[in-house]
Amino acid sequence: MGALGAHKFGEAKKSRNMLAVFIGTGIGGGIIIDGKIYRGSNYSAGEIGHVIVDKNGPVCGCGNKGCFETFASRSAIAKNIVAELKTKKKSILKKIISPNKPIKSRMLAAAVKSNDRLVIKHISNACDTIGLVLANSANLMNFDMIVLGGGLIEALDYFMLPKIKESFKKYAFKDASKNLKIIANNLGDDVALYGGIALAEEFLKIKI
Ligand SMILES: [Zn+2]
Repeated sequence: MGALGAHKFGEAKKSRNMLAVFIGTGIGGGIIIDGKIYRGSNYSAGEIGHVIVDKNGPVCGCGNKGCFETFASRSAIAKNIVAELKTKKKSILKKIISPNKPIKSRMLAAAVKSNDRLVIKHISNACDTIGLVLANSANLMNFDMIVLGGGLIEALDYFMLPKIKESFKKYAFKDASKNLKIIANNLGDDVALYGGIALAEEFLKIKI
């Protein structure tokens, strides 16, 4: 839905071949090929959060090990930060986190703004993994655009996008990335609602 919304109503309107990746509690995605959503043979295409980046990595909710979202989702970043805080590392988050409350994207954003080194380190590591997965996807599919969204990106796009692009450049083939733009979703949370409109238009063959 998010991919459709970004493609039909967001800044990705002009794109033909596009990947959308939403980074929040988990990581979800969607693929547009030749202007249309690509659903795959069993309607499961776009599960980018479960692309495996380290076969010996942490166990994922899906049962596999080392999925993309076990490294770069907001919950994965939060988990790594909490683990390091237990080793007496300094962070401004120490004062505001409590065991039963999740670390929200806006808390991470506030920590980055205050130059919190621990949080910056973990988000930077996530950006490197995001760039790696995007580069793998671009090498395979030769997209013209990648739209990034979700709570974490919305709160920290100014900080994360340059790092993601830097990492992407490191891993992507020149031909696969020549005209490729990586942008932040400009429709906020509503992007999935816009996707719903696009879907209704497609199924009902109407223009809303
Ligand atoms: Zn998984």
